[in-house]
Amino acid sequence: MRKRVTLVKYGISSGFRGEGEMDEDLLQKTVEIVRRAKRVVAFTGAGISVESGIPDFRGPSGLWEKFDPMEYATIEAFQANPKKVWGMLKEMAQLLDRSRPNAAHRALAHLEEMGLLSSVITQNIDDLHREAGSRRVIEFHGTSRNLVCMICGRIYDRRAVTLDTLPPRCVCSGVLKPNFIFFGEPIPWGAHLEAKEEAGRCEVMLVIGTSAVVSPACDLPVLAKKQGAVIVEINLEETQLTRYISNWILTGPASEILSRIVGAVSEAIHCRSQAV
Ligand code: NAD
Repeated sequence: MRKRVTLVKYGISSGFRGEGEMDEDLLQKTVEIVRRAKRVVAFTGAGISVESGIPDFRGPSGLWEKFDPMEYATIEAFQANPKKVWGMLKEMAQLLDRSRPNAAHRALAHLEEMGLLSSVITQNIDDLHREAGSRRVIEFHGTSRNLVCMICGRIYDRRAVTLDTLPPRCVCSGVLKPNFIFFGEPIPWGAHLEAKEEAGRCEVMLVIGTSAVVSPACDLPVLAKKQGAVIVEINLEETQLTRYISNWILTGPASEILSRIVGAVSEAIHCRSQAV
């Protein structure tokens, strides 16, 4: 039997706030706007991958209890002591290698396949959207798929590089760094541009599993909202977007909520095509 999903609704324009059990009407409304909108964009954070076994920064976890991200995930920390930070990165690589996309990643890939999702903008570096089959993925913070030489910029496939001796090094002897950004590094230029374009043009933005506190990523839903998009949040809990930016929030696990939304969209399309 399906677990019940709690839904919290904020009537932004009226300032009304209601709270209660799952409102099937709002889930249905999400299905309708996703089905009818010309451009739907998904904006995802660490929460979408929690059900794949990769801990987010907020919830209880193994990795981030052992390695404080503020100590290990800054570019200053990496530059000061790449060997120490690679100790954490090696464990992270092992975790990533064990992880597989979950139903939420697959639901978004299915939505794109149906022609109903323009892109996924992700803050995640775990590559699970691509693995699930999503084709247009904007990796706002880069990716763990590759390593880049800090000196000559040469790119390596992460899985092809041995981590027996840390830090791994380039043929030019430069230190290799994952091709994602650490706190303190700029957003990859192309990804930033593309993400802003997508956010500015979409009619619906699904904001999934992000606490929306990491800047400038957290500006994307604000930009989309300013351009008139409907913002639907999917999260286990309210975030700083919920009250002022989101039109409504579907509270529960992303895998369950997205499976329901995409399942219903798919069914509606199927019924319509059989009727004509
Ligand atoms: P965050 O850790 O700040 O917040 C995660 C959010 O996801 C929380 O609001 C939480 O309530 C929600 N959440 C947790 N489990 C969920 C589930 N099953 N369904 C729906 N929502 C769920 O993550 P953030 O906002 O993405 O910011 C952290 C930064 O660190 C980002 O840059 C992020 O990409 C990076 N990070 C990435 C990964 C990854 O690549 N998988 C993992 C950890 C952190």
